[in-house]
Amino acid sequence: MTPTLLAASPLNPLFVKALQTKYSVIGPMSHDALMAHPDRELIEVIAAGGESKVPASMMDALPALKLISVMGVGYDGVDVGHAIQRGAMVTHTPNVLNDDVADLAIALMLSVTRRIPQAHQFVRAGEWAKGGLPLATKLSGMRLGIVGMGRIGQAIAHRAEAFGMPIAYTARSAKSNLPYTFVADIEDLASQVDMLTLITPGGAGTHHMVNAAVLKALGPKGYIVNVARGSVIDEAALVEALQTGVIAGAGLDVFENEPTPLPALLTMDNVVLTPHVGSATDATRQAMADLATANINRHFAGEPLETPVPEC
Ligand code: NAP
Repeated sequence: MTPTLLAASPLNPLFVKALQTKYSVIGPMSHDALMAHPDRELIEVIAAGGESKVPASMMDALPALKLISVMGVGYDGVDVGHAIQRGAMVTHTPNVLNDDVADLAIALMLSVTRRIPQAHQFVRAGEWAKGGLPLATKLSGMRLGIVGMGRIGQAIAHRAEAFGMPIAYTARSAKSNLPYTFVADIEDLASQVDMLTLITPGGAGTHHMVNAAVLKALGPKGYIVNVARGSVIDEAALVEALQTGVIAGAGLDVFENEPTPLPALLTMDNVVLTPHVGSATDATRQAMADLATANINRHFAGEPLETPVPEC
C-alpha cells in the first residue's frame, strides 16, 4: 500500500515531485479537514519546509506519527519538544545549502555598501549620461562580525577572508579550531565591527538578539546583514536606527513578517531587500529536496535517518 504523507504547508515542487514517486501526499489542510481525513490514523510522516509551522495540535491529530522531515536547515516552526514527547523524529537538510546562503550574505554586503540596486536603476533610467553616481562605501577590509559561527557562518567567514575582512564572531561557545576572534557578548561584538552578519537559528533562544542597544553599538558607519531569521532582529528598532542614522544601512533576506515586511523597510534608500532566497537556486533546492526525501525513504526502509536535528 502506498503510504500517505501530510504536507504541513505548500511544499517546494521539487520536494513534491520526489515524494510523489513513492507516496501519496495530502494537504496542507485545516485541522478540521485533517481530523476528518480517512487516512489520518495511518499517517506516519509530515513533510515540511523551512518556514512551515508544525504545532503540537498537528502532531496530535496523527496517532501514528513517526517523522517530521523538513526541507530546510532551520526548523524553528516545528515544536521539536512535543515531537520528542510523541516519540517522533525530526530531520532537516543541513550543509547542502551552506554555499548559497553564504554567497547571498556576501551579495547583500556588496549590494548595500556599493549601492548596486541604486546603480542598476541609475543606468536603466538613463541617468548615466547626465552625470555620475555619488561614491559608495568600500567593503574589502571592513571588520566583519558574524553572529552564529556554525556551518553557514563558517562559509561566510571563508568567503570574507578573500575580501581581507578581519573576522570576529559570537556564538553560544567559542570555537577553538577557528582562527577568528570570539566575542561572548553581541553588543561588544557590534561595537568592534563595521559589518554585522546574522546567521543563527530563529526561535526563542535568539529572539530580538539584535535590539536598539546592539544597533547603537554598531554605530553610524555600521551595516547589518540578516540571512538568519527575521525574529533575530527587533525590526521596529532597526527601522528607527535606519531612519535616524544610528546605523548606515541594512541588507535583509528575512523578516519578522514574511511575506509582508514592515512598510517602512520598503522605501528606505539605505536598505537592500531579498525575499528569503538564501538557498533558492535550482541545484541547492534539488539537493535539499533529495535529502528531505532520503530521510523519509530511510524511515520507511527501517534505516537510520540521515540528518536528524541535534535535539533528536
Ligand atoms: P548551525 O550550524 O546550527 O549554526 C548555528 C550557529 O548559531 C551556531 O554557531 C550556534 O552557536 C549559534 N547560535 C545558536 N543559538 C545561539 C544563541 N542563542 N546565541 C548565540 N549564538 C547562537 O546552523 P546553520 O546550518 O549555520 O544555519 C543557521 C541558520 O541559518 C538556520 O537555523 C536558519 O535559521 C538560517 N538559514 C537561513 C536561510 C535563508 O534562506 N536566509 C537559509 C538557510 C539557513 P554554537 O555553535 O555555539 O552552538
